[in-house]
Amino acid sequence: MATGTPTRALFMLFGGTGDLALRKLYPAIFNLYKKGSLSNDHFALIGLSRKELTDDEFRAKIIDSVSSEADQPEQAQAFASHFYWKSHDVTNNDHYSELSDLADQLEAKYATEGNRVFYVSMAPRFFGIVAQSLHDQGVLSTNGGFNRLVIEKPFGRDYASAKELNDALTSAFNENQIYRIDHYLGKETTQAIPVLRFGNPMLEAVWNHEYIKDVQVTLAEKLGVEDRAGYYDTAGALRDMIQNHTLQIVSYLAMDQPNSFVDTEIRREKVKALESMEIYDAEGVKQNFVRGQYGAGPDSVPYREEPGVPSDSNNDTYAAGKIVFNNHRWGDTPFYIRSGKKLADKQGRIDIEFKKPLVDIFAKGTKQPAELQGNVLSFYIDPKIGVTLSVNTKDSEQGLHTETIDLNYLQGADRAAQVPLPYERLFHDILTGDGTYFASWPEVAAAWKFVDPVQKLWDQEPGDFPNYESGSMGPKAADDLLARDDNQWYWPHNVH
Ligand code: NAD
Repeated sequence: MATGTPTRALFMLFGGTGDLALRKLYPAIFNLYKKGSLSNDHFALIGLSRKELTDDEFRAKIIDSVSSEADQPEQAQAFASHFYWKSHDVTNNDHYSELSDLADQLEAKYATEGNRVFYVSMAPRFFGIVAQSLHDQGVLSTNGGFNRLVIEKPFGRDYASAKELNDALTSAFNENQIYRIDHYLGKETTQAIPVLRFGNPMLEAVWNHEYIKDVQVTLAEKLGVEDRAGYYDTAGALRDMIQNHTLQIVSYLAMDQPNSFVDTEIRREKVKALESMEIYDAEGVKQNFVRGQYGAGPDSVPYREEPGVPSDSNNDTYAAGKIVFNNHRWGDTPFYIRSGKKLADKQGRIDIEFKKPLVDIFAKGTKQPAELQGNVLSFYIDPKIGVTLSVNTKDSEQGLHTETIDLNYLQGADRAAQVPLPYERLFHDILTGDGTYFASWPEVAAAWKFVDPVQKLWDQEPGDFPNYESGSMGPKAADDLLARDDNQWYWPHNVH
């Protein structure tokens, strides 16, 4: 269902026939069109890349891209009729002048009220030049509508390159016009974290080091590098999954309560949390971070034998770490994070482990009960969606025996199928100007400052690779990391 007045907008999509655009972006815009969040009459999209295409050829690609979401073929055709193609080299200034003329024409034709969304879905080296050229060559709207710039990942390779990119973007757009995409923030469960925390005083009252033993964030993939070696071998798990998605999730878990649920307030609290992470020196990195690279497994070749991967690659396909927050809320409660490829299962999940009861009064009886366990609140991000809470209760046998059960809210297939896809949610927020689920620059900067010393050490010292079997749960050192604190990964060891 649409909420509010449908937004009028002219989109300009750089990388208009790229993989991401065809697989994710057009279906997302189409769903907003179907649901009425995007005005059905007053929108148009200009697709851009160096390719020479006619409008009809471009529209055929669009129909193909959205056909599985369409109620009838006519709906996809009507949608595609708003699409225009322009061959455009992002390094050629003349092309921006032509783009500006086309944008003016379409703006008049579709009465889009000067609202322009520039989506840069291209290799990151082009992000800065596109933003600056849009500004310098006069493609930004001056008619009183909005100009919003959407940037794909990755946002830099380290703090220095991210800052350089951000400086380029902010020379052309204000921070509040920039939407840095992190599609994990468009996921149902990620968006539920603040509501579960700040909507339930019962939870927020115990959301601190006094009651929480540790927090675990896992983004595990079953797939390997597939056909992305060209990009992935220069990135690795730390840059590809930890610096952005994982630390963003951590920020929602660790932040203090914002004064109100508006993006400026939320961002302020997220930044405070991220900036209070302890930054490790080289010795701290060795103690608190673990890297891995997958070896062979049943039906799997080692990473170093994957197509396009150098046979001596030092790239991390797995990263785990311990975060310590230097703040009052978290004190000595560690956050453990991990992400890797070729693991035993695909699971995006968060496990909040609460402390055990200080006194186990049942253990003093004569009835031989099971040991009481600490409660565990688990958020299921992907592929399952939902929340479970483990609690101690009595079993149904004669006499008093305790057992641990899960209070369980996992969405069934029907409801899960209704959940908007991440890019649809994020496009909706771009159109309504809501930056709640986008990474702000100070957050990105804090995350890079935390990750940089880890990456630096890993670049300097080759890893002892491969060090985990494909289809396993990652390197043993990642289990040892928790064992040193007398902890254990909750998943898969302790899940009921
Ligand atoms: P892609 O290579 O499929 O598409 C890139 C597009 O840029 C193509 O349309 C190409 O023609 C165009 N292009 C290249 N050089 C150009 C130039 N000089 N002038 C104009 N156009 C030019 O890439 P993709 O997989 O769609 O990824 C796009 C962005 O999205 C990247 O930043 C990537 O990191 C990010 N991303 C992609 C995925 C995915 O699943 N594909 C997932 C997450 C993030």
